[in-house]
Amino acid sequence: MSEHLSNEQLIQAAHQFGTPLYLYHAEKISEQYNKLTTAFNKSNVVFFYACKALTNINILKHIKNIGCNIDCSSINEAKLALHAGFTPERVLYTSNGIAFEEIEEAKNLGIHINIDSISNLEKFGKKFGHSYPVGIRLRPNIMAGGNLKISTGHDKSKFGIPVDQIDEVLNLIDKYNLHIKDLHIHTGSEIKDVEVFVKGIEVLFEIMPKFNELEFIDLGGGFKVPYKDGDAETDINLLAEKVKEAFDNHPYHKPLQVWFEPGKFMVSECGYFITEVNVLKQTKTTDFIGVNSGFNHLIRPMFYDAYHKIKNISNPDGEVKHYAVTGNICETDTFAWDRKLNEVREGDLLVFYNAGAYGFEMSSNFNSRYKPAEVLFINNEFHLIRKRDSFEDLLKNQVEIL
Ligand SMILES: *Cc1c(COP(=O)(O)O)cnc(C)c1O
Repeated sequence: MSEHLSNEQLIQAAHQFGTPLYLYHAEKISEQYNKLTTAFNKSNVVFFYACKALTNINILKHIKNIGCNIDCSSINEAKLALHAGFTPERVLYTSNGIAFEEIEEAKNLGIHINIDSISNLEKFGKKFGHSYPVGIRLRPNIMAGGNLKISTGHDKSKFGIPVDQIDEVLNLIDKYNLHIKDLHIHTGSEIKDVEVFVKGIEVLFEIMPKFNELEFIDLGGGFKVPYKDGDAETDINLLAEKVKEAFDNHPYHKPLQVWFEPGKFMVSECGYFITEVNVLKQTKTTDFIGVNSGFNHLIRPMFYDAYHKIKNISNPDGEVKHYAVTGNICETDTFAWDRKLNEVREGDLLVFYNAGAYGFEMSSNFNSRYKPAEVLFINNEFHLIRKRDSFEDLLKNQVEIL
């Protein structure tokens, strides 16, 4: 088990590259992947990193180098994956609500495709018939995940073809002689309860016999990671046991491989977001900290109430006090409403943990501020892997007509 990067290492990175800064620890990603492959070593399981969590090209290359495959949510992610050196058979495209042209493009790239609407399935059948095997993304009508905003498999979700419309799917398969090689479900993010996956498997087992040419079952991602000390993560070993148990007795006429698409599990904990304290503001009710960032850089707390552990690494032995940790943009951008931190002074460095997944990736230039730099700690060295924006970047795509 690799330790977190030390306070000294984080401070060194902040001094070397400036703040705000996203810093990733490559070894932690390898460790997470090893946890998965070790737990599932008795089953025929393959992992596809859901790269929308973090797509820096060096992260993708590292993931490729450690042997993990990749799952994409857009055609551009698929192209990045190929650019990173993944061969097409290691790339999966699980689309949602996309134009048919993108599916055609994915087919031309030779990658795996999960289709998630009746409409696109019909277009695909009309055009390609049996010639190109595809998967179907189903909506299992299961409520699961950290909260409604990050749940995707329930009966009001836009994702996937509802299992109750399976007869329409079968009609299309008949009509166009579609070659369906997998069934896919992804019920949401931060699923702690292993039973949710078991329920998903049961739903799939029920309809599986209606398909003749399945090769694998894709159970999506959504493994939970710990955010606070003492927090539970998805029990990967128990999940592996349950999956083995189920698939040792599956009702299909031939062996099936199982696929998973972990995003957050792979990269959440490898990431540190380092900020610097601009101002302190004491009011009657609250001690505010204003750091040199905001939801333009880390939107998760404001967007879906995500919790990020925060530490004052400049004053680790200071007296513990309560603070509201906020940013510097003109919109409420509270990272934490009432948080215990070692006494904070202007100029101190505050680190946000679990910043690898959906951190930089969801950042923007709101308030015309620069996106942060990204740094990778690999083989005991810090490497800049994305430059901080500059003023030219703000104007780069604008067309000045006046
Ligand atoms: C986002 C996504 C994932 C990854 O979810 P995590 O919670 O990050 O593990 C997996 N599969 C699909 C189809 C997704 O859209």
